[in-house]
Amino acid sequence: MPLPTINESIMYQKLLLPSGKNINIRGWKVKEEKELLFASEKLEDNDIEKAKLIAKFLKSCIEDKTIADNLSETDLKKLAIELRKISKGDEVEYTAVCTAEKCKFKEDDVMKLSSVEMIKMFDLSPLNVNDDLILAFKDISLDQSIELRKRFEKEPAKLIFYYLINSIEAVTFKGETYLNFTEKEMEEFIDQLNPNDLNKIYNEFEKKISSVKIVKRNVCKKCGSESIIEIEDVLGFLIL
Ligand SMILES: [Zn+2]
Repeated sequence: MPLPTINESIMYQKLLLPSGKNINIRGWKVKEEKELLFASEKLEDNDIEKAKLIAKFLKSCIEDKTIADNLSETDLKKLAIELRKISKGDEVEYTAVCTAEKCKFKEDDVMKLSSVEMIKMFDLSPLNVNDDLILAFKDISLDQSIELRKRFEKEPAKLIFYYLINSIEAVTFKGETYLNFTEKEMEEFIDQLNPNDLNKIYNEFEKKISSVKIVKRNVCKKCGSESIIEIEDVLGFLIL
């Protein structure tokens, strides 16, 4: 007798992302997890291709594909943690290793994802740059950020500048609001500002962007010193 086919109906649940978007998600199955692991093994050090592959895997667990294509890296991180919880549970077994120089004591431990995740939502409030100028920002999509990283692979200052100007969603200048502009037009507009204004934009933008990470503190049972585990990458969350 052939083995039975498991016909489970797909149950979606709601999730609020750091960008403020609401999506419906479902847990992954073994087939999908296997495909991801096998394919990422082949890619080894190709970070951009790996990011694309992981994004595709995460997007397959979202009901609305049009939203899925526009998610930011931070949104995908939050999504990865949530999917891990739905698919494999909130508790993660791991080995805590003491970081004290001569100790290195190892201890098996369990962490609850819901109590170690640190989520900072994107601050969508507009920025008053000066008396005439107000800017509104958005969380750019992962696809866009991969594109930028490819364009400016060895030019970090350029990458930060173009990341910033691509994150500008709207410009209000002397009471008039502008929503449609190309990257080049935005660059020409920003070029006219005083350097101090640009510094302010950089600083405030930095404070506004969202972030997702896992932070777990451990106190060593042997020597009493404290170690901190921090995980900040999407694949790190998926293979927990
Ligand atoms: Zn120790």
